[in-house]
Amino acid sequence: MPDVALLWFRQDLRLADNPALSAIAGRPVLPVYVLEDGTHAPGGAARWWLHHSLVALSADLAARGAPLLILHGDPRRLIPDLAARIGAGEVHAGRQTEPEARQRDAAVHAALQEAGGRLVLHRSALLHEPHLVRTATGKPFSVFTPFARALFAALEDLPPPLPAPDRLIAAPGAPAGLEIAALRLLPRPPEPDWAVEFPTHWTPGEAGAAARLTAFLAEGLNAYAERRDRPAAPWGTSGLSPHLHLGEISPRQVWHAAQAQGGRGLEVFLKEVLWREFSHHLLWHHPTLPDQPLRPEFNAFPWTTDAAMLRAWQRGRTGYPIVDAGMRQLWRSGWMHNRVRMIVASFLVKHLLQPWQSGEAWFWDTLVDADLANNAASWQWVAGCGADAAPFFRVFNPVLQGEKFDPDGAYVRRWCPELARLPDRFVHRPHEAPAAVLGGAGVTLGRDYPAPIVDLAAGRARALAAFAAIKGGA
Ligand code: FAD
Repeated sequence: MPDVALLWFRQDLRLADNPALSAIAGRPVLPVYVLEDGTHAPGGAARWWLHHSLVALSADLAARGAPLLILHGDPRRLIPDLAARIGAGEVHAGRQTEPEARQRDAAVHAALQEAGGRLVLHRSALLHEPHLVRTATGKPFSVFTPFARALFAALEDLPPPLPAPDRLIAAPGAPAGLEIAALRLLPRPPEPDWAVEFPTHWTPGEAGAAARLTAFLAEGLNAYAERRDRPAAPWGTSGLSPHLHLGEISPRQVWHAAQAQGGRGLEVFLKEVLWREFSHHLLWHHPTLPDQPLRPEFNAFPWTTDAAMLRAWQRGRTGYPIVDAGMRQLWRSGWMHNRVRMIVASFLVKHLLQPWQSGEAWFWDTLVDADLANNAASWQWVAGCGADAAPFFRVFNPVLQGEKFDPDGAYVRRWCPELARLPDRFVHRPHEAPAAVLGGAGVTLGRDYPAPIVDLAAGRARALAAFAAIKGGA
């Protein structure tokens, strides 16, 4: 009888192109998922997604003959105990870059080793190992363009994705696990069901991911370079981020499928996928990325903390339509378009002078694609304190950004329907509309839609003065 193996699913909730699964082909296997309660446990929206993703994975595994065991607790104890119980010498899993996950894996490996076993980690979530990509002088990258160049070269002979197995052999002796519902990942009363609209936007799970990729390749890839900054454009971007975050699809599947399809947008799209690799590379080499600025002078930045301002931003009630539309899209669908993420983040950090960590925390709780590396690296990028970051003094004007990237206001009208009847000219600046125009559109500022919570020129000047203070001190 071949050796029994434990297959530990974490952020690779798929059967196709799963190297850990392929490595144990032909052996009796016990697939297991362990919900952990760590500092960076998934936020609310990501928990909703995880629930549905586990339901899909569980059905797929059961159909192939090896049901998924669900546990909740500390894998440092649970995984070695489980391996001992079913007589598995090897535990196979996909490698993770998050600092806590790396420490946990080291502890699990050590515990397994004591019993003569081992934890075998496979490249699964990324195209390339973050610790193996190095500059010519052997250092980690801190600038995206040379990183992307090095990766494009390294990926020239990227092997094709692995097929999903038709059948699996269930290892005997599996203990009883939990029902997925017992993990309590979904919103529960008395909490309002804030996820009510999510299913109209998303189909979590491997099949949903594959369907989205197929649709994006058909509808979006060719025009990606022109449309990716248009938040109202259908299929302007792929919407694959939550699927990629939980590994319902591998970046290798995306990479190969996009290359096979080809077209005008290909290179720009692949480059965007490499931003994800870059963020994970940064997190690997800077484990404090989620909490501390990469540029140490920003530790002295004179942020203000204003709960009312933060709340207005969170609720999409700032009086700046592109910001409010983005924050409402986030709340209602669990996702926000990348261009708008940059605008709302810049607005919070610069015009409202709130610490980037408050925005990062809100995104962590409300994004279905909340990803420690991408979220932290992106917030630091916008705040000017990250690797290869936009300079702090480059302050996005939300009105001009709205007019540039949502010229007919279609995005604003969709998410801020109270502004739907404003003419294009004022849809991004309702506070400048004459009373007759507002009246004609049925908008009373301060009643139907907020007046601006900050004056843009004053907010910008305050941000630049704050920045000058740390530059002076640097
Ligand atoms: P596409 O344009 O179709 O790109 C394809 C894939 O490439 C994405 O699914 C994503 O995995 C990757 N990608 C694209 N742009 C980026 C980028 N700038 N950084 C890293 N990866 C990228 N992305 C997350 O996945 N999780 C987060 O928590 C997250 N937080 C963010 C916070 C802020 C403040 C900002 C500005 C950006 C954040 N991003 C985050 C990056 C980016 O906005 C999303 O990855 C993108 O909007 C996802 O949409 P898409 O799948 O349609 O992207």
